[in-house]
Amino acid sequence: MKIQTKFNHGDMVYGFRIRKSQRKAVKCETCNGTHRVTINGTDKTTYCPDCHFDGTIYIDEPCCTSSPFEGRIGKIEVEIYGKHSFVPEDHRGTSREKYMLDEHGIGTGSVFTANELFSSRRKAENNLKKIEAEWIREQAEDKGA
Ligand SMILES: [Zn+2]
Repeated sequence: MKIQTKFNHGDMVYGFRIRKSQRKAVKCETCNGTHRVTINGTDKTTYCPDCHFDGTIYIDEPCCTSSPFEGRIGKIEVEIYGKHSFVPEDHRGTSREKYMLDEHGIGTGSVFTANELFSSRRKAENNLKKIEAEWIREQAEDKGA
C-alpha cells in the first residue's frame, strides 16, 4: 500500500487557530449569584441546582477570533478505514491525516488536520477569509431566524 499525505515530514506549514465561541461566566439567575435557593413556602434554603459552586453559570458566546501559527511537520499520523460494515458509517472508506508540529511539541502539542494547514502564509490567510465570511453569513442568518 502506498500512502500519500498532503504534507511530508519536515514541511513548513501555516495556519490559524480559530475560535467560534468564547466561554463567559455570568451570574446565575436562579439564585441571583448566591448559590442558595429558598425551598418554596419555608425559610429553608438548599444549594442552587443550576449553577456551579460560585453562583455563576458559563455560556458559550459566539465570537470569531484567530491567531496565526507556523511550524515544521514533526509527526504524521494516517488513519485509513476499511469499508466493512463494522466500521462506523461516517468513517467507512475514508482516511484522515493528523499532523503535529515540532514548534508545538510532538506528543503533547496540538494536533491539526490536513484542512487546517497550508503550504504558504498567503494560502492560510485566504482560507481564514473564507471562514470569516462564512461566520458573518451564519451570524446574519441566526439574527434573521
Ligand atoms: Zn445558581
